[in-house]
Amino acid sequence: MEKRFGKNTVLKGLNFSVSPGERVTLIGPSGSGKTTILRLIMTLEELSGGFIFVGGQPLTHEERGGKRVALPGKRVRETTKRIGMVFQHFNLFPNMTVLENLVEAPIHVLGMSRPEAEEKARGLLDKVGLADKEGAHPTRLSGGQQQRVAIARALAMDPEILLLDEVTSALDPELVGDVLQVLRDIAAETDITMLIVTHEMQFARDVSQRVMMFDQGVILEDGPPEEIFTRPREERTQRFLSAVL
Ligand code: ADP
Repeated sequence: MEKRFGKNTVLKGLNFSVSPGERVTLIGPSGSGKTTILRLIMTLEELSGGFIFVGGQPLTHEERGGKRVALPGKRVRETTKRIGMVFQHFNLFPNMTVLENLVEAPIHVLGMSRPEAEEKARGLLDKVGLADKEGAHPTRLSGGQQQRVAIARALAMDPEILLLDEVTSALDPELVGDVLQVLRDIAAETDITMLIVTHEMQFARDVSQRVMMFDQGVILEDGPPEEIFTRPREERTQRFLSAVL
């Protein structure tokens, strides 16, 4: 796949696949294209060339008669329903309570009944340690609590794929641990496929089965965490890791 912003090509001839249930961490210097990859999968950015497949199905474009053809929005949304994303800055709906944030998409996108959506939401809030906050507005919560709500909101859609974009980068250091613990639990208890962009290298090492090192829009190294973190092949990876570890 390829992604350009104007004349700036940020992802070039990128080709990788992720197996169902696999947890992959994307590392690399700022500007290397990690967030753009997650945003392309979530269809928040438009792919400039090539294809993305989710569960074997084309996401936004398919090849037909030798041509690259855009798929109808309805079909794209059928696929994106299966993908959840958590952002650096939470992106909760500020004018809704915590519970409303969690039931909105299950009711309006999945067609779940309100009682069923609320029951599920309460279970998820309990899971992220925020059962007592269902009536609160997000702005009254700490950053760490808001992020745990955002994780619960993503899980409320029962995603097959979870995209985590620097979810602890905006948090005060003392709030990071609770958020990472919630994610460690999800990793241990579910088989959700995860693509993780993070600077938390210990976390990456613990939860992911695979690490991809990016530099300038290409994959420099791709392998199990113990290999990438302890015996990186590329000098660029060694320099990056010694700067962040
Ligand atoms: P990373 O997540 O690795 O820090 P990004 O995916 O955010 O990298 O960015 C990759 C490149 O794409 C950078 O050069 C960045 O400036 C550029 N970029 C990202 N988003 C946009 C945008 N909306 N418009 C123009 N350039 C962008």
